Amino acid sequence: MPIETDQGERWISISGVQFFGGTVYAFRDVTEVRHLEELKADFIATASHELRTPLAAVYGAAQTLLRHDFALDEAGRDRFISLIAEESERLGRIVNEILLANQLEAGRVDLGSEPFDPVELVERVVEAARVHAPAGISLKRRTPEDVPFVSADRDKVRQVLVNLIENAIKYSPDGGRIEVGLESGQGSGEETVVFFVKDQGLGIPDEEQARIFEKFYRLDPQMTRGVGGTGLGLYICSELVNRMGGHIWVESIEGQGSTFLLELPAEPTSAARPSPILARPSEGDPADAQRQ
Ligand code: ADP
Repeated sequence: MPIETDQGERWISISGVQFFGGTVYAFRDVTEVRHLEELKADFIATASHELRTPLAAVYGAAQTLLRHDFALDEAGRDRFISLIAEESERLGRIVNEILLANQLEAGRVDLGSEPFDPVELVERVVEAARVHAPAGISLKRRTPEDVPFVSADRDKVRQVLVNLIENAIKYSPDGGRIEVGLESGQGSGEETVVFFVKDQGLGIPDEEQARIFEKFYRLDPQMTRGVGGTGLGLYICSELVNRMGGHIWVESIEGQGSTFLLELPAEPTSAARPSPILARPSEGDPADAQRQ
């Protein structure tokens, strides 16, 4: 049964065992269990919807090709085949998200830690995102020159950035500017690198800002704005970032956009990255080149 407390509603389960002298009651607070069950039910509904939409598109396109192949010109056929390819890719991504969330929970994800150049990573991620960005979205890069190398799993950091940019696009239904960039930071005395993805989209109310990193949590599960998702993306991002020794958070004003920030440890031995006129460390000491 639900009871009202100063801290809000709690759900209590009560069981009783009768003895000769009376009855012993056990009270158990099942609020968290109930909450998880609700989230799971929401997740099943959203995941089924998310899977059904691309599946219906693939099925429809394949059926059209089978039945009307003769009536379609080459451009028409290409359109349906591209649609099948795109939607199957989307299906694959959703399934991968679900699998990865499961593996993270079971502690079965291995993370590497090779120092890498964050400026180059941001450049690549932004370029790739521009290819798919819808017409109303502009993507800008803000990378200073003097950022140190990052000590983390490059591919996983790329995955997190891609996810944050996808969200920035998804939750800017009226278009706008998205900035992806870097800053040097200082976390508990150690040098760090802060990546950020800033949008001008829907924004997130203060009281929801911590919860969006929870598994399955979505601000708009009924999809009143027509934006779908599994609610796993940010959970995966925060798990990956935490395991790389960093942290992720959001700063946002509802209705005015959000900035997602992720802070990772800098490579301890790396000084500021070399200026463009000097060779990179892997290319040898520039003084050597002069001596030769
Ligand atoms: P999904 O996008 O699949 O729902 P996520 O875990 O990526 O799941 O995000 C959880 C929720 O956080 C989203 O449903 C959305 O409500 C909110 N959210 C995430 N990114 C943004 C953003 N850039 N702007 C506004 N809301 C966001």
